[in-house]
Amino acid sequence: MLSPTNTLETPSGGYTFTDSDGFVTFSSNPTDFINKIGAHRITAGLYVGSGWEQEVWHLACEQNPNLACHDKENPTLEAGLEDVRQFGLVTQRFFENGGKAESQKEAERRASICASCPKNQPIAGLCSSCKGWAAWLIQLASGRHTSRDNDLFYCQVCGCSNKLATHVPLDVQRDERHSASEAPANCWKRQAFVKT
Ligand code: SF4
Repeated sequence: MLSPTNTLETPSGGYTFTDSDGFVTFSSNPTDFINKIGAHRITAGLYVGSGWEQEVWHLACEQNPNLACHDKENPTLEAGLEDVRQFGLVTQRFFENGGKAESQKEAERRASICASCPKNQPIAGLCSSCKGWAAWLIQLASGRHTSRDNDLFYCQVCGCSNKLATHVPLDVQRDERHSASEAPANCWKRQAFVKT
C-alpha cells in the first residue's frame, strides 16, 4: 500500500484525486484533501469504512506522478555488499578529512530536498551493523539532527542514509558507481555521482 513520503511540503501541482464516480478533488493541503474526499464520498454513498483513507492515498499516489510515495510494507530498495563497501569508503574519507560535518544550514537545505524527492525511500536488507555505524557516525560527526529527520529515509540512487548524508561534505561522498543523470535535476548530491 503506497503512502506519501512527505506531507509537509505540497507537491508541484498540489494533490489531486479522481474517485471511482469520476469526481475530482484538488487541494494544496493533505488534511483538507482527505476531508474533501471523505465529504464527497459520504454524499455520493461511496465507501468510507475501515481503511478508506489509506486506500485513497494509495490511489492518489498512483494518479499523481509528482507525489513522492513509498510502500512501507514492501520497500523496493535493498542494500547490498557494494553499498556496504561504499559506506566504508565514505566513512574512511570522512575521518581522513578531519571528521568535519556540514553546516546546519546546508544540512537543512539538503534535508528539505531529499524529503520531497521520490528517490527518498525506506530500505530493506541493511545489515544491523551498518545501521549501527550510520547512527554512530551521525552522532560522532555532529550530534545534530535536521528538522526533516522524520521524513528522511535512504537514497534510491546510492543507498545512502539521507539522515546521515545531509551532514557529510559532498567531496567525501564521491560515488563512482552512479552518474548524475540517475538523480533528479534538483538533487543536491549530483556532483558526487561521478560515473561517466
Ligand atoms: S537523489 Fe538526491 S535528493 Fe533524491 S534522495 Fe537521493 S540524495 Fe536526496
